[in-house]
Amino acid sequence: MRQQHMLIPTLRDDPAEAEAISHRLLLRAGYIRQLAAGIYTYLPLGLRVMKKIEAIIREEMEAIGAQELLMPAMQPAELWETSGRYGIYGPELIRLKDRHGRAFALGPTHEEVVTTLVAAEIHSHRKLPLTVYQIQTKFRDERRPRFGLMRGREFVMKDAYSFDPDWEGLDRTYRAMEEAYHRIFSRCGLDYRAVEADSGAIGGEGGSHEFMALAESGEDTIVSCAACSYAANLEKAEAASPEAADANGFQQTDAPSHAATPPERLHTPGMRTIAELTEQLGLSPRQLVKTLIYVADGRPVALLVRGDREANEVKLARQLGCESLELADAETTRQVTGAPVGFAGPVGLTIPILADLEAAAMAEAVTGANEADYHLSGVRPGVHFALEAVGDFRNAGESDPCPRCGGRLVFRRGIEMGHVFKLGTKYSRALGALYTDEDGRRREMIMGCYGIGVSRLLAAIAEQHAGESGLRWPAAVAPFRVHLLVVAPRDETQRAAADQLYGRLLALGLDVLLDDREERPGVKFKDADLIGLPVRIVIGRGAADGLVEWRTSGEPEAETIPLPEALERAARL
Ligand code: ATP
Ligand code: MG
Repeated sequence: MRQQHMLIPTLRDDPAEAEAISHRLLLRAGYIRQLAAGIYTYLPLGLRVMKKIEAIIREEMEAIGAQELLMPAMQPAELWETSGRYGIYGPELIRLKDRHGRAFALGPTHEEVVTTLVAAEIHSHRKLPLTVYQIQTKFRDERRPRFGLMRGREFVMKDAYSFDPDWEGLDRTYRAMEEAYHRIFSRCGLDYRAVEADSGAIGGEGGSHEFMALAESGEDTIVSCAACSYAANLEKAEAASPEAADANGFQQTDAPSHAATPPERLHTPGMRTIAELTEQLGLSPRQLVKTLIYVADGRPVALLVRGDREANEVKLARQLGCESLELADAETTRQVTGAPVGFAGPVGLTIPILADLEAAAMAEAVTGANEADYHLSGVRPGVHFALEAVGDFRNAGESDPCPRCGGRLVFRRGIEMGHVFKLGTKYSRALGALYTDEDGRRREMIMGCYGIGVSRLLAAIAEQHAGESGLRWPAAVAPFRVHLLVVAPRDETQRAAADQLYGRLLALGLDVLLDDREERPGVKFKDADLIGLPVRIVIGRGAADGLVEWRTSGEPEAETIPLPEALERAARL
């Protein structure tokens, strides 16, 4: 394609709003433009990359027998009511009404639609297993859209859904899908890890994996073991608690004992945080217990974790079996504890109290006193207050041993690109996806769902393949394979050489971007650096002697070679 006529609006300066390097460069190099927060136009270059990624995904989906279809973005609210998700999906679901006042939603995902379809069309075991997929625009009104395409409110997803007659079938489909995902992400040139992920209340062990691109800007934390193959999302990673071994014998429902020495009141004016308390009282965070007040499906609960630990809300939500879980606001905290935020403690609380293993195992601790400017010391779990449940409710820490082999844990940041998930019968039951087996019995189909954030993947590739002065696309997804630059298009010799080479490269079946613009060479080189194609061929003054410059992306120097050799090299690409 001739650059002269292409819409590639490059920017000289870094856009102020872009934090992540991929976001910055995709804007600067003219791949995308923002229309509203989290809503983007894919310009010609951006769209070409997306199409290449989609082609790889389609090939790998077809290779495992998944069939492509396309479902509507606009979905009747009743479907979501039937599955039970209309109420709980929350403000992320974009809701709208048609002219008759009927309620609709813009699909953030398609379990409801696909299950309804399959329920209506498939009735016999002879038609199973079935896997369908689509590449489609999704809508989620994210609280914090950011990093450009990484977290959009309108974005492109590949979502696949499988229907098997039994769990063994689902296991096979799931494994095939996992392998396809490995091929997709490898072909996209990514450095990634497959990690264990939380699968919610359904699914069970090994029922969910995420595929994470390694990147500093990633919003997820990947916990992996330096010695064995253990790798999990921090949300899911088991926190090994050797020090909490005695907590297992702990009587969870014991009423507080009144015979014990009561806790001592400590005057702690204005000391609301662990840092302030440790600094001013000269304590170690390990001697403190944090009391966090949450609201789970509208009901307040308290969680205790040791002062040096972080609460894990995914683990807590799983224990509680709740759909929504949020830290209580200041007002709720005051109602529940009688004190401002920063002084909550377990003694005297009337809401359910859950404790992480380590907190429950502490002989005594300093906690909030449920009174402004006071804490308590000598608080003994199970003696001064009762616990509803004890378990692993904290994030694994970098100093923890690997839960599988005891090895050293390594923490890294990652971008979630894909998610495979064993759904089981949650949707087939709610939406009536049944089939008749060999013996004429009606059974529920066993489902799996498998997502890839296609537009996020584009950003993740850019994030991993970026240099100082621009993008550096892996060949498999580059918008063009070769960038052909003519330094002085008005020069007859250069022009002729360029036209000839351009024609030959096209004849080889290569995608070529020909920069034949009447621009200063400096501008052309800067733009070429930004755009970041895998191979650059420059036709300049050397054209008179039959010479061109060849540069492979990432190599510091260009080589001067005869034109026929450039053609030979191109033929090998
Ligand atoms: P996240 O934890 O990042 O919000 P999720 O768990 O909500 O992701 P899924 O519902 O599993 O995501 O969606 C499947 C895939 O879609 C994700 O693996 C991710 O690659 C992509 N995705 C999800 N939300 C967004 C978004 N707001 N913008 C772009 N891609 C997204
Ligand atoms: Mg999400």
